Amino acid sequence: MNISENVPLAPLTTLEVGGPARFFASVETEDEVIEAFGFARERGLPVFVLGGGSNILVSDKGFEGLVVRIALKGLSQDSPGEDMLVRAAAGENWDSFVARCVKDDLAGIECMSGIPGTIGGTPVQNVGAYGQEVSETIIAVRCFDRQAEGIVELSNEQCSFGYRTSIFNTIERERYMVLSVLYRLTPGGNAKIVYRELVDRFADRQPSLAETREAVLTIRRSKSMVIEKDDPNRRSAGSFFKNPIGETDKFKELNARFNGEVPHFPAGSGKEKIPAAWLIEKAGFQKGFEMGNVGISTNHSLAIVNRGGASAAEIVELKDAIQSAVNKKFGIELVPEPIFVGEF
Ligand code: NAP
Repeated sequence: MNISENVPLAPLTTLEVGGPARFFASVETEDEVIEAFGFARERGLPVFVLGGGSNILVSDKGFEGLVVRIALKGLSQDSPGEDMLVRAAAGENWDSFVARCVKDDLAGIECMSGIPGTIGGTPVQNVGAYGQEVSETIIAVRCFDRQAEGIVELSNEQCSFGYRTSIFNTIERERYMVLSVLYRLTPGGNAKIVYRELVDRFADRQPSLAETREAVLTIRRSKSMVIEKDDPNRRSAGSFFKNPIGETDKFKELNARFNGEVPHFPAGSGKEKIPAAWLIEKAGFQKGFEMGNVGISTNHSLAIVNRGGASAAEIVELKDAIQSAVNKKFGIELVPEPIFVGEF
């Protein structure tokens, strides 16, 4: 395993900002993962695990530790019964995996087309979109356990999946590094059409998996949520804030204050979810808002973009301004979705 020093991280992230990693290792096998963590332990270095770089903001000072880039590759499948079990290594590209499953007529992940990043990132925040979440098909997650210094296989239940959460980004944050994910998919199964934008598009019929994937890609493209070379909104970390979930009673008070205009969706018993994009726009930050080298995507008010040459500090300045305006107007504290890497 090769360990490099002072490696620029900005080109490895979709926001394209931030300083270098003091040490950097790209790991291709499970043995190399163990070796990399050994290197960091011997030197007392903090470790950051880098996947597709699509959901992180790296500090301008960089990261004073070891960045481990997951380059584990490979897919394998098995069909013990009616289902198809597919294991994908953590470094595989998520959307290529979705495309392949759709082509092979395997249902279960088609609505999550066009999401940037790698397989390894998906269980961490229980990635979901357009009415489907990875926790619906994940059977197990194979990980390196930094505490026990060994490899473990966690069942779906052990991952404690919730809305954009799991043990990996809550109670066991930083303990596990994902090596591979085992999915249960349904050969010849129906596409999941429950989300309003998909229901409206296919009002009269059940679309194929391929049609569903195309529809999701079209919707995502219209919001610049598919990273494309020529899109001026491409330098972003996707949604910069989580959609807030609160108690229904509190929501009712808020909605009354705003003449019943607050959009909302049920989020489990006694809870409501409010689209963060709506709160941001109402607080005065419209699509296309500009502040020096940073701004808000012209196609999606939830995405902060690097307009070219931005620093991490400028991104944080805009994030703070949005949070403070939303808090002042609605009394809601928006929580950022990307992971902040290094010192801020
Ligand atoms: P959107 O589709 O306008 O949705 C905004 C909010 O409204 C979300 O909280 C969404 O819930 C909710 N919503 C909209 N229609 C709904 C319906 N028919 N039933 C229940 N809830 C509904 O937002 P967007 O920002 O363009 O995002 C599109 C999709 O990508 C959403 O599903 C969003 O969650 C997903 N996304 C996921 C991640 C991630 O996994 N990290 C990051 C960015 C966006 P849901 O969030 O439950 O869908």
